[in-house]
Amino acid sequence: MSADDQGAPGERRPITSPLDGRVLGSVPVNGPEDVRSAIARARTAGRAWAGWPVARRARVAARFRDLVLDHSAELIDLVHAENGKSRINAFEEVLDTALTAGYYAQNAARFLAPSSRVGAIPLVTSASVHYRPKGVVGIISPWNYPLTLAVSDAVPALLAGNAVVLKPDSKTPLTALRAVDWLRQAGLPQDLMAVVTGPGNVLGSPLIDGVDHLMFTGSTATGRRVAAQCGERLIECTAELGGKNALLVLADADVGRTVEGAIQACFSTTGQLCVSIERIYVHASLFDEFCAAFAARSSRIVLGAGDGWDVDLGPLIDAGQLEKVSRHVDDAVARGATVLAGGRARPDLGPTFYEPTVLTGVTDEMILARAETFGPVVAVYAVASDQAAIAAANDTPYGLNASVWSRSPRHARAVARQLATGTVNINEGYAAAWGSHGAPMGGAGISGLGRRHGRDGILKYTEPQTIAAQRGGLIGPPRGVRRETYAAVMTRAARLLHRLPLSLP
Ligand code: NAD
Repeated sequence: MSADDQGAPGERRPITSPLDGRVLGSVPVNGPEDVRSAIARARTAGRAWAGWPVARRARVAARFRDLVLDHSAELIDLVHAENGKSRINAFEEVLDTALTAGYYAQNAARFLAPSSRVGAIPLVTSASVHYRPKGVVGIISPWNYPLTLAVSDAVPALLAGNAVVLKPDSKTPLTALRAVDWLRQAGLPQDLMAVVTGPGNVLGSPLIDGVDHLMFTGSTATGRRVAAQCGERLIECTAELGGKNALLVLADADVGRTVEGAIQACFSTTGQLCVSIERIYVHASLFDEFCAAFAARSSRIVLGAGDGWDVDLGPLIDAGQLEKVSRHVDDAVARGATVLAGGRARPDLGPTFYEPTVLTGVTDEMILARAETFGPVVAVYAVASDQAAIAAANDTPYGLNASVWSRSPRHARAVARQLATGTVNINEGYAAAWGSHGAPMGGAGISGLGRRHGRDGILKYTEPQTIAAQRGGLIGPPRGVRRETYAAVMTRAARLLHRLPLSLP
C-alpha cells in the first residue's frame, strides 16, 4: 500500500523508516467523516480557549518550548528514524521548533493587543483595532520537516485563539502526533488541536470545506489546487510552496567561506528543503577556483544511515524522490552536462541514498535547469557581472529564497535588494533568514501566498475588527448647515489635515 492509498474503515497504516524499511509504528487511515468530526470537536473546544487571556495561552507555548528542549534527544531520534535526515539536521529542526514556540510565547500578547487608530474626524471619532480568532485553522504539512512544519505554524494559530486541525504528510505522521502530545502535556486542551492521518487527496477537501483558514506547506502543484478550493469558499490560504533558489558568488567573495556556506545551503536535509539552493552563479573571475573547491568539499560529505553526530546526510525520503533526482541528473548528463561531484545513487548505503551532486554545463533544455529537483543536486554557472547574476537568478517563476556572498556588506545588500525573492541571506544559505523568527518568511511568484513568522505569522490567523465610536453629532453636514458650505469646509479641512506635521497611526 502506498502512503497515499485510501484505506478501509478502521484500518491502520504502518509507518516505515527510509533508513532501512523498519516499521516504526502505525496510524489510523482516517476518512472525510473523521476530518469533519475532528473539526467539530476542535470548534467546540475553541470557544472556551478563545476566552483565555493571551498571556495564559502563551504560557502553554512556553511550556511546550521547554518540553521540546528537555526531550530533544528523543525527538531527534524520531525525526531521524521517520524522515531519514541526519542527527545534526534533525537537531536543527528541533531547535527551530523550540525557538518559534518561544518567540510567539514572548510576543503574541504584544501582536494581538488592541491598538488605537486615528478616527474619521480626529478627536471626535475614536477608532481601535481588535484581533478576533478566525475559528478553526487547517494545517497541511509535508514530510521534509516533519516536526517544525507540523507544529510551528500551529503555535501562533493557537495563541491567536484558534483551534487547529493538522493533516501531516502520510510518510511522517508519528513526529507530528508526538509533538501534539507534548503540546497537550504543556496544557493545551485535549480537543483543541486534532491530528488526522491519511491521504492528502482524500482528507484535503473535507478539511478545507470545514476550516476558516488554511495553512498549506508543500508543492506548488498541490498548493494551486488547495488555494483554488479556498478561493471557492472565500477563506484565506497561506501557501508555502516550492523554490528554485539561487546563490550568487560576487567577485569580492571569500571563496573558502562561500564553499562551506554553499555545502550547507545545497545539501542540508539531503537537499529536501524548500529554501535549498539548486543554482549557483559565480563571477567568472572565481569560477574555476570555486568549482574545484566546491566539488572537492562535496565529495567529502559523509552519507550514512547511522544516528551519530558524525553523519552529514541521510537518504532521500523514498523511491519516488530517488527516481526524480536520478531522472533530473541523468537527463542533464545525457544532454551534455558535466558531473563535477556525485551523480549516482548509493544502494550500498541504503535503498534511497544519492550522492551530493555538482553539475556544470547545464543548459535550458535540461529538466533541472528550471524545475525544482528537491534533492542534493546543484548546477553551477559562470556569470560576467552582478547584473548578469541578478538577471539569471530572477529568471524563474519561483521566488522563495536567495543567497548572496561578498566581503562587502554594502555590495551584497545592493544586489540582495534586486532579487525577487521573499528572503535573501547574505553570507549564509538559508538559516539566517529562516531563523530570524521576528521577520516574515515566505515566497513570491509561484513559491507561495502569505508569510509565516513574525507579526504576519500570527495576525494572518485573525480577523481584524475595527471598532469606531463617535462623540457628538453624526458624520455629515450638521443640521442647519447647507450642504455646499459643508463640502467647502470639509475640502479645506482635508487639505489642512494632510499638511499638518502629524504622524497618525
Ligand atoms: P505535496 O504537495 O505532495 O504534499 C504536501 C502535503 O499536501 C502532504 O501532507 C500531502 O498529503 C498533502 N496533499 C497531497 N495532495 C493533496 C490534495 N489534493 N489536497 C490537499 N492536500 C494534499 O508536497 P511534497 O512533494 O510532499 O513536499 C515537497 C514540496 O514542498 C516541495 O516542492 C517543497 O519545496 C515544498 N516545501 C515548501 C516549504 C516552504 O516553506 N515554502 C517547506 C517545505 C516544503
